[in-house]
This record gives sequence, C-alpha cells and structure tokens, in this order.
Amino acid sequence: MTEFVIQPAPQASVAVAGSQARFPIRRVFCVGRNYAAHAREMGKDPDREPPFFFTKPADAVVAAEGAVPYPPLTENLHHEVELVVAIGKGGANVSPAQALDLVWGYAVGVDMTRRDLQDVAKKMSRPWDWSKAFDASGPSGPLHPVSAVGHPAKGAIWLKVNGEVRQQGDLDELIWPVADVIAYISESVTLAPGDVIFTGTPAGVGALQPGDVVTAGVEGLGEIAFTVGKR
Ligand code: MN
Repeated sequence: MTEFVIQPAPQASVAVAGSQARFPIRRVFCVGRNYAAHAREMGKDPDREPPFFFTKPADAVVAAEGAVPYPPLTENLHHEVELVVAIGKGGANVSPAQALDLVWGYAVGVDMTRRDLQDVAKKMSRPWDWSKAFDASGPSGPLHPVSAVGHPAKGAIWLKVNGEVRQQGDLDELIWPVADVIAYISESVTLAPGDVIFTGTPAGVGALQPGDVVTAGVEGLGEIAFTVGKR
C-alpha cells in the first residue's frame, strides 16, 4: 500500500442503474458541437469541422438529483443535455468498427457551461476550462450497462426547464456517432477503463436560474431531474 502525505481524494464515481455497485470515473472527455443544429446556433458550419474535445475533472460528475449548485463567476449558466458514454475497456488507435466494444454503459448527463466565460475564452483564444470544468459541472443519471440497453444510436434526447421543452433532438443526428468519437479520442490518448465521454448537445441550449427544475432524458435511458441551487 502506498503511503500518502495527505488523505487522497475519494474515487469519483457514478451510480449504476439497478445496482448498489458504482462505476469509478477516471477522466471526462467532452465533444464540442456534435449536432448540426447546435453548431449552427453557436455560429459555426457543422459540415466543415472534425470533432474537437475538452475535458472536465472526474469529480465534476455528480448525481443528477436534489440540488446541483449554481457555480460562481457566471451570470449565464447554460444547460447542455448529452448522451454520456462510459468506457469499460481501454485501447489506443481503436477503429470505429471496434470502438463500441470498449463501452460499458450509457447515461443521461448535462454539460453545465458558464457561457459568458466561454464567450470570453473564444474571443481571447483562451482555454475553455473555466467555462466547462467547474465543480459539479457534469450532473449525470445512473449508468445503464450495454448488457441491458445495447448501444443507443437513435431515439429522442431532450431537456425541459420547469416543464417547458428547451432542447429536443435525436441521437441519429450526431455528426460524429459514438463509435467515431471513441476512435478519434483513442488516436490522441490511450483510453482507459473508467473514462467517460459527453457526446455533445442538440440545439436549444439556454440559461438556467436558481430554483429552476431541470428534467432531461434519452430514449431508453430514463429521465433525470434536479433543481438548480441558490447563488
Ligand atoms: Mn457540451
């Protein structure tokens, strides 16, 4: 046993549907602009860009239940509902044809974004970390194992705020489907068990206010519900 000079951080993890056991999280990769309509609403041409990525710390993933804190430093906290992929087997330079073999399961998550900080970062050609990688910036529902849900490739993905539909899309609109996303990431880094991927958001992103009730879902993966905490 390694002896540490301070208490190590607890292992970040996410619940597993129908189980007491949890899925340990290693890294969190996120795809930018992976639905054409969302790329357009962000002012970009969806046909011209290979996928690009940013990351969140592992412990940004928190249970999408109860109150999710409203983060500091923003006046424009945005919701981005996403299909979340959990990697159970590692690999480098994985082909799209083999990529889905790495997947352990899927969940519904929200890529919370400090849009005002992101707008400044884009303008100043600065990194996105401060806009994307804050505490509790990845609330997620329980993981559903592939053995139970297969590999969802089409079906509704949606998010409501206070019961009103804000985001609505279909997984078949992903510009880079899950297999391609995994293949691309594995060209850059060696994927490892415990890695998690937020696969991008459909159109309709918008601001959240303290007290808002967020419900979101992906067909076949159930629904998540949380409130936005006080400022
Ligand atoms: Mn996103």
